[in-house]
Amino acid sequence: MTYKAEYIWIDGTQPTARLRSKTKVLPDGAELPIWGFDGSSTNQAPGDKSDCVLRPVFSCPDPIRGGAHVLVLAEVELVDGTPHPSNTRAALTPIATEYASAEPLFGLEQEYTFFKDGRPLGFPSGGFPAPQGFYYCGVGADEVYGRDVVEAHLDACLEAGLSISGINAEVMPGQWEFQVGPLSPLDVADQLWVARWLLYRIAENFGVTATLDPKPVQGDWNGAGCHTNFSTKAMRSSYDPIISACEALGKNAEEHVRNYGAGIENRLTGSHETAPWTEYSYGVSDRGASVRIPWQVAQDQKGYIEDRRPNANVDPYVVTRLITDTVCSAAH
Ligand code: ADP
Ligand code: MN
Ligand code: MN
Ligand code: MN
Ligand code: MN
Repeated sequence: MTYKAEYIWIDGTQPTARLRSKTKVLPDGAELPIWGFDGSSTNQAPGDKSDCVLRPVFSCPDPIRGGAHVLVLAEVELVDGTPHPSNTRAALTPIATEYASAEPLFGLEQEYTFFKDGRPLGFPSGGFPAPQGFYYCGVGADEVYGRDVVEAHLDACLEAGLSISGINAEVMPGQWEFQVGPLSPLDVADQLWVARWLLYRIAENFGVTATLDPKPVQGDWNGAGCHTNFSTKAMRSSYDPIISACEALGKNAEEHVRNYGAGIENRLTGSHETAPWTEYSYGVSDRGASVRIPWQVAQDQKGYIEDRRPNANVDPYVVTRLITDTVCSAAH
């Protein structure tokens, strides 16, 4: 007998990488082998040196095929065994190891937008729906679009064993969010990539597409972000390290914003619950700040902070690496 392993990897598309996957049929009980693919078809290699290597780094039950079938997230390597230039996970690993004793934890709020027939789900053809105001966490067929897809995705993630902590309808019609974490940097990023793959794959069954476009509709419509909640053991025990983390992020704001997802200047405008991308700020309860200290955290004098800047299309290996490095190196 056999089982199916769906190998998932991140390609070399610029400026925002895409997910790819293909299936390997394996004998029952066989371990997940290293595999390969045609890098010339994924923006990862020239045609005359096209072979790239897939090294499994994370696997979980496949909730779509069920049974003993699995999803396999793989890192992309060159044939000499070194990380492919598109492999951002390889750069996170040493930072996660260096600061493991600080016990960094991340919770990622992945926002996304469903599209059908070239427009966001819930948008009428050739026009616009009623202005924003009732869609966020709404209920009813006039406010919520795509809930059946969202529920199927949540169930699939839970069956796969991913640490999804919640879902909600967002401010713009057809826009939704799920949260992953809190988990270590590598775990949260691996799981977010698999949860994204499941989102696209489940939406396929419903004939809709999901996009991480940070500003899917211009004008008075919210963009899509990936708020990144972060704590270290020290931040979870007292308040001074919370302030120090906010200050450290301010000192390195430019590098962070530059790496928080393509098109960030279109989303971080200063409107729609964002701070302008050119200015760094932090504050308690402030959804117009770059970094928010949740009210409850100020009350408890310990907890975590929320970096509100990352775009929905951010690479979770990059945002977790930058925040861990910036905050933990300053705390030394
Ligand atoms: P918001 O009010 O911004 O919409 P959410 O409830 O959507 O907040 O997301 C909050 C996220 O913060 C969740 O993913 C949760 O797992 C995460 N979180 C909670 N506590 C911590 C912590 N100590 N460190 C890091 N992340 C945390
Ligand atoms: Mn072929
Ligand atoms: Mn949220
Ligand atoms: Mn949100
Ligand atoms: Mn948030």
